[in-house]
Order: sequence, then C-alpha cells, then structure tokens
Amino acid sequence: MALKKSWVASANDPESDFPLNNLPYGVFSVCGRRRCGVAIGDMILDVSGLGPAGVFEGGNWNAFMALGPEAWANFRSEITAMLADGAAPRPLERQAEATMHMPLNVAEYTDFYAGRHHAENMGEILRGTNGLPANWLHIPIGYNGRASSVVVSGAPIHRPLGQLGAGRFGPSEKLDIELELGAIVGTGSPMGQPVTTTEADEMIFGFVLLNDWSARDIQGWEYQPLGPFQSKAFATSISPWIVTKAALEGFRTSTPPRDMPLLPYLHEGKPSLYDIELSAYLGTDQISRTNASRLYYSAAQQLTHHSLCGCPMRVGDLLGSGTISGPTPAEFGSLMELSWNGEKPLTLSKGETRTFIEDGDTLTLKGHAQGDGFRIGFGACTGTILPAINTPEWAK
Ligand code: CA
Repeated sequence: MALKKSWVASANDPESDFPLNNLPYGVFSVCGRRRCGVAIGDMILDVSGLGPAGVFEGGNWNAFMALGPEAWANFRSEITAMLADGAAPRPLERQAEATMHMPLNVAEYTDFYAGRHHAENMGEILRGTNGLPANWLHIPIGYNGRASSVVVSGAPIHRPLGQLGAGRFGPSEKLDIELELGAIVGTGSPMGQPVTTTEADEMIFGFVLLNDWSARDIQGWEYQPLGPFQSKAFATSISPWIVTKAALEGFRTSTPPRDMPLLPYLHEGKPSLYDIELSAYLGTDQISRTNASRLYYSAAQQLTHHSLCGCPMRVGDLLGSGTISGPTPAEFGSLMELSWNGEKPLTLSKGETRTFIEDGDTLTLKGHAQGDGFRIGFGACTGTILPAINTPEWAK
C-alpha cells in the first residue's frame, strides 16, 4: 500500500490523518446549515450535491449507510476519482473554519468489554483477583448504553452527580476515560434473525474513536447485579470523522489465539481486528499508547453475538469495543488502571499529579493506522470536564 496522491497538497503529507487513501465521512457547518462532507488533507469536500439524489438531505450519514455496501463502494470510487491527482480542482472548505457535528444519528448504543488486559486489571483492582470473570473467554460481554448521551468530540462534559456509596451523594470523585474504538453498523438486521460473523463484517460501515466517560465511584456502588447504569449514561464522546471499513481494509489482523475454544457462531470469517495505533492525552501529556489489535473479540464477533437472541440491529447502531489496554502500564486505556484506582498518581510534565480527572482537564484520544508513507487517521476525540451542575441544596 502506498500513498494515493491528491491534487489537495495537504493530503499528500505523510503525517496527514486524511490522505486520499482515507476519505472519512463527517458532518460540518461553516456559519450555516449542517452538511455532509469528506475530509481530505486539511480541507473538506462538501458532498451535498453528490451521491444518490437526496441521500444527504438529512444532515447525517444514516440514509447513505442504509443504501448498503454496493452504494458505499460506488460513492467511494466516485470521490476518490474526484480528489485524485490530475482531476480538476473544485471548491473545498477549510477544516480550521468548520464546526463539526455528530456524523450520524446514533440509533442505539451498546458497549462491550473486549479488552483482555483491561478486564484482567479491573478484576485485580475491584475484586483482588487476577482472573477474568468466568464467562469472559466464552462470551463477548456488553451492556446496553444510552444513544441519547453520545456526543461529538469537543462537546463539553459536566461532572456527573450520583450516589457514591450508602448515603453518600455528590459529584463523582473518580471520573475517568475509557479508550475505545466505536464500530458503526451501516445496515440493519430483522428481528429474530441472528447474523453470521461474515454478515456482521459486511454490515459494519466504519469506525470512530470513542471515549466512554466513566464515574468509577458511581459504578462501583451501582453495578451489581445488572451492570453499569448512571456511571456510564452521562456522556460518551466520539471522533467526528467516520473512518470507513474500506479505508482500513489493508490493516486487518486476526484476533489473538483463543484460551478457550469459542462456539462456532463466534468464529472469525476473516481477520476482523485492525492494526490501529491509539493514544490518550491529558492536556498535552500522552498518558497511554496502545493498539486496537489488543482486543480479544472483534466488532464483527460482538455484532454477531448481539444478534444471537434475535435482537434486531438498526442502521446507525454504535458498538463500543470496550477499553483497549495492553499488557504494560504505558498501554493502559483508563486512569483507573493507570493510577491503579488512585494508589499510583501520574506525574504530568508540569509537575502536577493526577489520579482521576479534575475539573478543567481536557482529555483527547487519537488514532491512526500506519501505511507506507501515509496514515489512515481518525482525527481527535476530545472533551473538557466542567464542574458538576444542579447539585441540590441538601447535598451542598
Ligand atoms: Ca466502556
């Protein structure tokens, strides 16, 4: 794989997240209405008048996704030709002048728990055992999240209020990030009809970076027996550009060796993880660096498992991968792990320390797949934590 050259000069920079090889899909505005666009270098191609008639009128990519894989491939060919070196230049918008919006209407949001090192670390921190939950090697664990709380990168996040223990109430004191990849389901499935891993792979439209903001103290009190609820329902941030499965095709990698054989319905149809370098920043300090290939279950396996009972999947469903951590502390994808539940504070470059997030902190996720002289980048997924609001008088 080599860089495909574009007439947009900034797209040919090997450090650009958005070369012609990528062409991710977003929604932007420049003093006006929201329009669908494609990132190329540091510019945006407005696609309002392109593609099948009326498909972008909704101001998001849902109607386009619903057209299915053949239409996705045709459109990608069309815009690749339009932006390739030698094609006639056309007007573009500057990313620096654009405001980004949610690229899709999230139908439903499910978050999984497919990072093995994260699951092992959480077991050790919370239960004092280094073992995985008994079911973990057999089943992709997940919970149903709230689509209503998914926001685009840059949206400010208020520290949540909650129950922190028996009779304890207030703003979360253990606010955290979770470094994840989000898979976007492009085509749905009917109720009562499980999908195979091959079908699931075909249904996936693309990926975003996903920060599953988590309130560890609220979570620790509420999670038994039904799993996370308020601790995860206040906000989840996603990066604004959907990197298509097509752009990542050359970066596929297989899931790691199985410790326990999986039931046949979960067998990979083809390599279904991706070699994507991921990192997290607190302010300008890099606090974690890991890779999406660390996951144990792929998005295709998760989607297959999700449909197993007959649960219908919808256009625009979002599946969080689960926190992606590697085996060494530098690869941990949450502050819970990085600070070992507050026992080992991180020292930042200005001499400050952190266990969990403080008000005013900005957290950023970045990611890219590294090609030969180009990268398939995701841009940034960022969020700044603001103080809690709506604290009742009785709790002050
Ligand atoms: Ca999560």
